[in-house]
Amino acid sequence: MQTAPTPLKVVRASGCELELADGRQLLDLISSWWVTLHGHARPEIAQAIAAQAAEMEQVIFAGFTHEPAQQVARQVVELLPPDLTCAFFSDNGSTSVEVALKMALQYFHNLGKIGRRRFIGFQGGYHGDTTGAMSIGGSSPFWQAYRPAMFEIDLVEFPDTFDGDTSIEEKEARALDQLRTLLEKAGDDHPYAAICIEPLIQGAAGMRMCRPQFLQKLEKTARAYDVLLIFDEVMTGFGRTGELFACRKSGTSPDIICLSKGITGGFLPLALTVASRRIYDSFLSEHLERAFFHSHSYTANPIACAAACASLSILQREQARFQDMERRHRNFAQLHLAGMFESGGRLQQPRFCGTIAAFDLATPDNQSGYFNQVGPALRQQFLEMGLLLRPLGNTIYLLPPFCIDDEQLERAYKGIALAVANL
Ligand SMILES: *Cc1c(COP(=O)(O)O)cnc(C)c1O
Repeated sequence: MQTAPTPLKVVRASGCELELADGRQLLDLISSWWVTLHGHARPEIAQAIAAQAAEMEQVIFAGFTHEPAQQVARQVVELLPPDLTCAFFSDNGSTSVEVALKMALQYFHNLGKIGRRRFIGFQGGYHGDTTGAMSIGGSSPFWQAYRPAMFEIDLVEFPDTFDGDTSIEEKEARALDQLRTLLEKAGDDHPYAAICIEPLIQGAAGMRMCRPQFLQKLEKTARAYDVLLIFDEVMTGFGRTGELFACRKSGTSPDIICLSKGITGGFLPLALTVASRRIYDSFLSEHLERAFFHSHSYTANPIACAAACASLSILQREQARFQDMERRHRNFAQLHLAGMFESGGRLQQPRFCGTIAAFDLATPDNQSGYFNQVGPALRQQFLEMGLLLRPLGNTIYLLPPFCIDDEQLERAYKGIALAVANL
């Protein structure tokens, strides 16, 4: 707080625009931390929330259920790969990951394989800020003080790629080698319950993207060694990658998927952890200790569920918006940034996946990551241009609401070109 700039007070939000108390307008190009889907204050969702609040605002979800929850679960399961059928509610991305980790551990416990207690994660992975989610993320430089509370995991390189990458095959082979080495080390049986990955895009690590082919090989390897595969689609879900889910875009099917952020269109906190029937069945027993012990006070809050139902309907009606955005990103990047990617230029490693575009700034000290000082300076410049962009270290990225129009998107690209040229 000693060094942080004074927070900006926002009084209104609509579409892609935020209005500040001092009258300034900001173009929200990061969907307010990756949650806003269709645009701010979308009327259908606001109305669904108001109607649900007047009807039934909250009810205990242990021993009870309600239509909005059943409808969200049904709608989401219908959109996922066919094996993912059993939905469990919680209320944010981190808890959806905690649930997935607990499910994976107890699945093997219920099968009597109590040695399966470790997890494999990816370097740069981010899965949330609660203790288990931090542990499975593992490599963040921010968490030194919390290490004593975190559990140990094993890490594999994330084979990130970009337009014009010539060494991607090598990187993927290396990552898979590391994975196989871990899984083979222990002889008879290995100690792993699950592998956890952000499929296609590592968000917090700087919008690092991998190829669908890698996820396909990862899935094969997980199956070969009978280790569960957890996809953390908290950020990539609901159209972000240009398809409804990264698993569908890559033709893969995890054993457990974590969903949150965009699930309500960005209106209210809600999360789902969806597992396969095989996992669900392992919990069925006369014995209470085989049951899954996890709940939150607001599990499956009806108002949040109503928002999710309204958002999912819009999402299915307006698929063209997220399907078409990659083409528009590439078009404006070509128009306004192309020269900056030439050798010796200020920008490097252009990458695009659906609604997300990212570029790395070549900085003199060539120091990448969060602690790069260029980020805060750029953020300030963007704010002065009326653009809400928050570089992740030296990575500039766009992750706009799906309603962004061409004029707004072009304004963003022109702003980035100007800010980079000014540095
Ligand atoms: C944001 C995020 C989370 C954590 O979600 P919260 O709702 O902030 O707890 C987990 N995983 C990924 C991939 C995320 O991007």
